[in-house]
Amino acid sequence: MLRPVAAAALRDEVTDLLQRLIRVDTTNPPGNETAAAELLRDYLEAAGVECELLARVPERANLVARIPGGDGPSLLLLSHTDVVLADPAAWSVPPFSGELRDGQVWGRGALDMKGQVAASAVAIASLAREGFRPAGDLIFAATADEEVNDGFGLSWLCREHPDAVRCDYAINEGGGDRLELAGGTTVYQATVAEKMSAPFRLLVRGRSGHASIPAIADNALVKAAQLIERLTAYRPEPQLGPEIEGFLRIVLGEVPPPPDAVERVRSVAPGAAGTVEALLAPTFSPTIISASRKQNVIPALCEVEVDCRLLPGQHPEHVEPMIRAVLGGDLEYEIEWLEAHGGTRSPLDTPLWQALEEFVAAAEPGAKAAPLACTGFTDSHWLREAFGTVAYGFFPASGELPTDVLLSLVHSADERVPVADLELGVDWLRSAARSLL
Ligand SMILES: [Zn+2]
Repeated sequence: MLRPVAAAALRDEVTDLLQRLIRVDTTNPPGNETAAAELLRDYLEAAGVECELLARVPERANLVARIPGGDGPSLLLLSHTDVVLADPAAWSVPPFSGELRDGQVWGRGALDMKGQVAASAVAIASLAREGFRPAGDLIFAATADEEVNDGFGLSWLCREHPDAVRCDYAINEGGGDRLELAGGTTVYQATVAEKMSAPFRLLVRGRSGHASIPAIADNALVKAAQLIERLTAYRPEPQLGPEIEGFLRIVLGEVPPPPDAVERVRSVAPGAAGTVEALLAPTFSPTIISASRKQNVIPALCEVEVDCRLLPGQHPEHVEPMIRAVLGGDLEYEIEWLEAHGGTRSPLDTPLWQALEEFVAAAEPGAKAAPLACTGFTDSHWLREAFGTVAYGFFPASGELPTDVLLSLVHSADERVPVADLELGVDWLRSAARSLL
């Protein structure tokens, strides 16, 4: 269990703020994040932090707040206020109740990510009250529309209000998971890069006909099934990027040849093996299929949508020849790439990484921070792309709830966060601001 490095005085403040944030229903769609932005503005202004609401449409405001500094480096505490749908029937408590039970705050968004919103707000507010004078700006941004990404949130801010969110460093969601290794060492994962989401559609052609006489037609759905088999059986050559190398060095004490990496990780941290496997190569997950609209008509066309994630730095043109080789030339199909996004990385030899390592070492003696790429997309991408920001995902978990439980609660029923995690998060964000600025 982690030992908090700062006084516990802010615990009640962050708990109360999170409870109030959860009670503002910001389910996206439609979002309605303005109510959450106004709540945060009132809280931050009371602490003397300058705030502005920036909105593409009135009901979906982003909040940007700052303690202005000098010409030194700037740090942005980044979070989003929207949440995904919650079905009350599946929950043990009303999902927007923000109930405090057994030292945990329950409700939609507790983990993803109003807990970090509240911790970031309390970190900047408490520093402002203490008269903190940063060398460069300390910025807080609670943005709209991360979950759907329809262009109301950070991507819009980077384009329309770049001066509001331009920063040298950023701390976002997407990391902080705690791994307890078989040998007894604790490792905290921090995400420093992300895979590119590059979905594509397979259009498989055949010939229609009456379903009662299969031989007169050429069933595109059956051909698609064969292509799906080939694609999902395929294991691309594993490759080591700098993030996974750094991770293996911390977790295994060395960097094994890529084909051995997954089994070696499984032997010390079984829960991390699947993620490591997904970070060594592109992945292909068929998720949507459509063919005939009539049960008695054999389809001439079958469309399969594939969720494809590329390694940071890879692009669709790099993998398309590989996909074609695997699918073969005997069945007629076309590949149609859909909109790709993400795929950026930040370097590791930075003052922010140093601050993170020092925090982990101070908070839990013997524990280590390990870098990792994120298999999914986060808003860190927009900052890296627009400003070359060093953006990491890190919000450390105290260990009160095991990592596999925390991961299973995100976007699921009975989402909840231990107050101990909130307190540790406030400590981390305050210590990062103090050591960088
Ligand atoms: Zn999130």
